[in-house]
Amino acid sequence: MFDAHCHLSLFDANEFHFDNLSGIASCATNVDDWEKTLSYSKLSNDSFKVCLFIGTHPWYCDKYNEELLEKLLANNLNVGVGEIGLDNVRKDEKQLEIFLSQLKLALKYNRLVVIHCVHAYSELRHCFKEVKILPNKVLLHGFSGTLSDVDYFNKYGCYYSFSDKNLKENILNSIPKNRILAETDSPNKNNVKILNVVDNIKKMTNISEAQLLNNALEFFMGIDND
Ligand SMILES: [Zn+2]
Repeated sequence: MFDAHCHLSLFDANEFHFDNLSGIASCATNVDDWEKTLSYSKLSNDSFKVCLFIGTHPWYCDKYNEELLEKLLANNLNVGVGEIGLDNVRKDEKQLEIFLSQLKLALKYNRLVVIHCVHAYSELRHCFKEVKILPNKVLLHGFSGTLSDVDYFNKYGCYYSFSDKNLKENILNSIPKNRILAETDSPNKNNVKILNVVDNIKKMTNISEAQLLNNALEFFMGIDND
């Protein structure tokens, strides 16, 4: 199993439990945890992969530092951009500008992107058009869009990750089955377990646990065992 979205920097270090996991993707949310997040590369080994993302989450726009983000991306070749995004529930007038700036950096350095989007899918669609986002590079984490959104983002070869709270059978079955990932967004207040998420996806689709793992390895590491 692979947890496609969590935040290692928000755990107490002694709370990490990686039993049964082949890997995780951990995102920073603001400039204060970029260096800390980068330090987790040391947790990777032959049987456990840690994929890292640095960026400014839409809730923390006041802390955006474009210059430092660019410098850290230039110096850390395997690091992606995330989690970044748009959130109309917790709005900030600088969100759009900061999101576009980070998308452009991801494009410039050819990095993967992890996106947080809450009630802002039409704005996100406009951004994709404006930035000319590259195919197969984007993970829409905690996806909560409509069938029409899925149609749109499928054209960009987007990947989609789900925790327990946003699983919908019709949405899951409208996404190509090699583009669905399981995540916990931990630490989270509901203490979601990756095993439960995987089980629930299996119940709603004909996707196996092995396929979910393969999807994560393909997106995060470019490994395709299909
Ligand atoms: Zn998150």
